[in-house]
Amino acid sequence: MNRIVMPGATLGVLGSGQLGRMFALAARRMGYRVHTLSPGEDTPTGQVADVEITAEYDDLEAIRTFAAGVDVVTFEFESVSIEAADAAAEIVPVRPTGHALYVTQHRAREKSFLSLKGMPVTPFEAVASLEELMAAIPRVGLPAILKTAAFGYDGKGQHRLTRPEDAERVWGLVGPQLALLERVVDFVLEFSVVAARGLDGAFVHYGAIENTHRDHILDLSVAPAGIPVEAAHEAVQITRAVAEELGYVGVLCVEFFLTASGGVLVNEVAPRPHNSGHLTIDACATSQFEQQVRAMCGLPLGSTAQRRPAAMANLLGDVWAQGEPDWSGALALPDVALHLYGKSDPRAGRKMGHLTALGETPLAAAERVLAARGLL
Ligand code: AMP
Repeated sequence: MNRIVMPGATLGVLGSGQLGRMFALAARRMGYRVHTLSPGEDTPTGQVADVEITAEYDDLEAIRTFAAGVDVVTFEFESVSIEAADAAAEIVPVRPTGHALYVTQHRAREKSFLSLKGMPVTPFEAVASLEELMAAIPRVGLPAILKTAAFGYDGKGQHRLTRPEDAERVWGLVGPQLALLERVVDFVLEFSVVAARGLDGAFVHYGAIENTHRDHILDLSVAPAGIPVEAAHEAVQITRAVAEELGYVGVLCVEFFLTASGGVLVNEVAPRPHNSGHLTIDACATSQFEQQVRAMCGLPLGSTAQRRPAAMANLLGDVWAQGEPDWSGALALPDVALHLYGKSDPRAGRKMGHLTALGETPLAAAERVLAARGLL
């Protein structure tokens, strides 16, 4: 099944958000056709794909029909069910595999995998009832965060406990479902490593990218991150080990905490390109999305060389509070690029697009991208 999928072939992507859109743009630029499947219509991905199929992810017959129309399948968000990935894999290769999806789409499975493989993580325990939560508190330690085990992203389904008495209230918000209790990490900063692993096992990475969150949603990414080289090196080694342990083919992102002592802890793994890697489109020889195309097609991975320091600021629906923003001020700044995702409903907190700026230094790039966003 290791045949190379050459340009002219058709790539299938399950999911239809902005990650699929930027994937489709990269794929089409390289001469591929793109089909997308999701429950939506006129989606960010569908707008730039050759074919947009509207079906539920649990409609396995629709998934099989979709797979029969393409040469290889990937996914753009990790909430695609394992059954859907397996149904597609009956017909064509799915890269990364359903196994990688299975491990990383569920916080408890992912943390257990990481800890089993000796990766550094904050103390945690999976809990399925209030009694288990109360028993876990002294072992995990406080303050802690209770997270839903399944389908969490951007901090959704996370609640903080500072005292044992918080257990009942917090369980009322999260239970009854499997959840993960995690000790709060007193981190200095957060960063990520976006990387790709090819069909032949080749590994490339974009180094450490520094991330700042607001209300649990990524707000600003800056590359290269201002962290000690040893920490960046360790994070890259961990990312490589995660990719190898999963037999991964595609782009993945590992999110890290940098601790006061200079140590690194893994927060989570995303089995796909990542918001923090969007700056690679404007800043690097090969973007994370082109890398995704190359990896899933079995082509050689591209150079990750970064031309200049770069920063990315997300544009959430809040920016549209007074109607469509006037983009002219931001676009008049040198080395600023606008990326919009084609979403028509700018709800508060919804990722609508992003700005990227290049600069002489990471700080200059960050200042420029924030200045650009400030002009909207
Ligand atoms: P997650 O969805 O798990 O990536 O969490 C979103 C954000 O919540 C992270 O990027 C952190 O800013 C914060 N967070 C999550 N888990 C922890 C933790 N154990 N300690 C401190 N902050 C956390």
